Amino acid sequence: MNAMPFGPSENPELRNRLVSRREQLRDEISAALRSSGDAENATLAGHVHDLGEESLADLLADVRLAGIARDVQEVRDIEAALQRMQAGTYGVCTDCGKLISLARLHVYPTAKRCRPCQETREKTRKVAHTGTI
Ligand SMILES: [Zn+2]
Repeated sequence: MNAMPFGPSENPELRNRLVSRREQLRDEISAALRSSGDAENATLAGHVHDLGEESLADLLADVRLAGIARDVQEVRDIEAALQRMQAGTYGVCTDCGKLISLARLHVYPTAKRCRPCQETREKTRKVAHTGTI
């Protein structure tokens, strides 16, 4: 195994993927807002690309448009991941504090948890959801 020259927070490839995915989502969201036929949404669409360091998810927090709910959630996850990169905590599991495997981060660049913790969480949620146990 080669020693890694940088930690996950400094990984340029993951960072680029997060940033370009956010750009793509911006385009989709702004197109959806524009085509919604709502004047207020259309105005918002004009701001989507003007954002500097402002949070796109915050801007859209009050928008109730079913078609973009998923995209907005993804943008929120991406912005959170980029913030963790800035803080140097990206790639560290929020539950157990261990490093999330790079392989997992390449599949899920916004992952907050390592796989074992995520699986535990999903199991717990499923049980809570169905209420069978
Ligand atoms: Zn964990």
